[in-house]
Amino acid sequence: MSDQANQGDLEIRPSPLLTVINDLHSKYKSLKEGIVANYIPELAKVNPDLFSISIVTVDGQVYQVGDYQQLFTIQSISKVFAYGLALEDHGRDYVLTRVGVEPTGEAFNSIILDEQSKRPYNPMVNAGAIATTSLIKGAGATERLNRVLEMFRRYIGHDVFVDISVFTSERSTGHRNRAMAHLMLNFGMIDRNIEEALDLYFQQCAVMVNCHDLAVMAATLANRGVNPVTGEQAVNSRYIKDILSVMYTCGMYNFAGEWAYKVGIPAKSGVCGGIMAVVPNQMGIAVFSPPLDIRGNSVRGVKVCEELSQQLGLHLFECVKVENGKWGVGNCEC
Ligand code: GLU
Repeated sequence: MSDQANQGDLEIRPSPLLTVINDLHSKYKSLKEGIVANYIPELAKVNPDLFSISIVTVDGQVYQVGDYQQLFTIQSISKVFAYGLALEDHGRDYVLTRVGVEPTGEAFNSIILDEQSKRPYNPMVNAGAIATTSLIKGAGATERLNRVLEMFRRYIGHDVFVDISVFTSERSTGHRNRAMAHLMLNFGMIDRNIEEALDLYFQQCAVMVNCHDLAVMAATLANRGVNPVTGEQAVNSRYIKDILSVMYTCGMYNFAGEWAYKVGIPAKSGVCGGIMAVVPNQMGIAVFSPPLDIRGNSVRGVKVCEELSQQLGLHLFECVKVENGKWGVGNCEC
């Protein structure tokens, strides 16, 4: 049979997962709620219509729709990966003496520390993230930045760069973050040059990624720290449970409880409009859409993840039929 005849006979159907994300993209592309972050002047310039959804499975299959090649700065989503590097550098016990694991119920930029321990509450809010980043080892500022960039390379599978205009914009306007750093220095939670720690924090937030990259990073966390596309170990698998636990309880700002209840998978969002979600042993999900709700989460991103979780049965505590008609708790086999 000729190739032409073959093609004529074949009915090529999109995969069910692609159909689901295509439908969600069409459904929410006209939603105009939310406003783009404007507290960092450079971020206010982003096009609010950008919208993409990417899924990467732990066996490296990719499903995506929309502007998934559009670069943006990773912002708060970087906190997840910096936490992993600090854990690798110092171990769980030491990191716990500097940064707690309790949700705050407060906004991402609140200036509060635990009254008793003086630790920042968790590594997913700004104070905790600045303390975490100050723990990253290196002989000087350049070596520390290179270690952070190299870490992102392992998770993503290619070199990454810092958006210098976003970095300098945040550095010159980040007075609130500077105030937090001074408060933590006062309590001995940061012991290095705080301007250097803040620079590294602002640089890690200004690393450029696209939606596809975020999904690969999420899939790496879903895959015991091994990048499913390159096969490279991006983070020691022993710290995956620490990283995913704080994402689950603290990753969505002061919406974290409702997110855990409704969506039920570890996730982290950023003021860039990105949301990265991890379905352990199955897939990484990323949504990018810059307009944010009052808590700082992407409006379309939250809606897409809520529906994806429902339609695919992704909630970690979903009751599913496991075998012989019996029921168990866990993700469906999607
Ligand atoms: N670079 C931002 C800041 O520290 C990150 C905020 C975010 O994405 O939540 O203000």
